[in-house]
Amino acid sequence: MYDAVHETDPEIAAILEAELGRQRDQLEMIASENFTSPAVLETVGSVLTNKYAEGYPKKRYYGGCVHVDEAELLAKRRACELFEAERANVQPHSGSTANMTAYCAFAEPGDKIMGLSLSHGGHLTHGHPVNFSGLLFQAVHYEVEPGSEVIDYDRMREQAKKEQPRILIGGASAYPRTWDYAAMRSIADEVGAVFIFDMAHIAGLVAGKVHPSPVPHADVVTSTTHKTLRGPRGGVILCTKENLKAINKLNFPGMQGGPLMHVIAAKAVCFHQCLQPEFRDYAQRTLDNAQALAAALLEKGFELASGGTDNHLVLVNCKPRGLTGKEMEELLEHVGITCNKNTVPFDEESPFVTSGVRLGTPALTTRGMGPDEMRRIADIMDRAVTSREDEDALARLRGETEALGRDFPLYPEL
Ligand SMILES: *Cc1c(COP(=O)(O)O)cnc(C)c1O
Repeated sequence: MYDAVHETDPEIAAILEAELGRQRDQLEMIASENFTSPAVLETVGSVLTNKYAEGYPKKRYYGGCVHVDEAELLAKRRACELFEAERANVQPHSGSTANMTAYCAFAEPGDKIMGLSLSHGGHLTHGHPVNFSGLLFQAVHYEVEPGSEVIDYDRMREQAKKEQPRILIGGASAYPRTWDYAAMRSIADEVGAVFIFDMAHIAGLVAGKVHPSPVPHADVVTSTTHKTLRGPRGGVILCTKENLKAINKLNFPGMQGGPLMHVIAAKAVCFHQCLQPEFRDYAQRTLDNAQALAAALLEKGFELASGGTDNHLVLVNCKPRGLTGKEMEELLEHVGITCNKNTVPFDEESPFVTSGVRLGTPALTTRGMGPDEMRRIADIMDRAVTSREDEDALARLRGETEALGRDFPLYPEL
C-alpha cells in the first residue's frame, strides 16, 4: 500500500500506515466520524485534484473543464434527488464554510443570528464568540430545558420574538433528539427570520429516510458529507430555486476560490451510494445500534443526556460514575475505544474537562457491528470504570476490544 509515497517520502508513508493500523485496531465511536468507501478514497486521490475550475459548470473562469463539469453536475443532481431538494451547491470545502456562505447570503455583518448554545450541543459555527459566526454577527443562543434536556419550542418562540434574529439556526453536534422543523419554520415566519438548518450530523439518517428531513421546512439546509453520510470530507448546501443565486454568489466568489474537484467527484460517488437500498439499511442499523447502546448503558447505571437518543449518538454524563469527561475519554482510549469528551447541558466543568463523553454508532455500523456488539461495548465501558485502578484488568479489556475489531475487518482491500 502507498507504494509511491513510500518511494518519495518514507516518513509520511509510515504515518499513513500507522493511521490505517490505528483505525483498524481501535473501536471508533466519535459520533462525527465514519469510514468512507474505497471508491470515495480512490476518487479523492484522483487526478481531478490537478484541475482549476473557479465558477460553476458551463460558466468557468478556466478552460479544460469539460470533464469536471460533468462530475459537478452529477453531484448536484444526485444531491437533489437524494434529499428531494430543489437545488444544491456541492462546492463548500467543509461544513463550516457551508454555514459561512449560508449566513452571509442572508445577513449583513452585525445582524443578529440565533442558534443552539455550544455547551448545550450546538456547533462553534452557530455563533460562538471565538468563531467567524460570533465575530461577524451578533449571536444569541437558545438552550435545552433543565430536567428534560430537550429544546422547548415555546421558549424558543418567546426568545425569538424578543431578539428578532435575522437568521434562526437549527441543528447540532451533540443533541440526541429529533427537531421540530415545523415549529422552527413557524417561529422564523413569525419574526421574519431566515430558517437555516445545519444537518451535518444527521444527514446520513435523513438520506436513509430513517429520520425526518429538514429540507421541506428550512429556507436553506447545510451539511457535511463525511459524517453519517459517509462520503469525503466536505460540505454541501441545499436550497430552493429562488435562493440558489444568493448561495452560489456567496460560495464563489464570496467565500472560496477554486473548488476541490476531486472531492466534488467523490461527493457524487457518495450520493450515488446513498441512493442505493443498502444505504437505507445502513442508516437503520446505525439507529438500531444507538438504541441498543443507549439501553445497555442505562442498564449499567450510566446517565444519558435527555435520557436516551433518537439518532446516531448518545451523550453520557460520567459524573454519577465518579469521572469527568476528560478522564472517561482517556480511560476508554486506554482500553481501545475512541470517543470525545463533551459538555453535557448545564455542565459545571470547563470545555477542556467536561462532565460527559459523546458516543456515536456510524463508524462501527460501517464495520458491520450490530446490537450484540453495542451491548458488549457498554459492558466493556462499565468494567473499565469499575476497574480503572487495576492495570491488569484494563489490559484484558484492551484485548477484548482488539478481538472485537478483528472480527469486523476494516479496509481488507488496502
Ligand atoms: C461537524 C459540524 C460542522 C462543521 O463541519 P466541518 O466540516 O468540520 O467544518 C458544522 N455544523 C455542525 C452541526 C457539525 O456537527
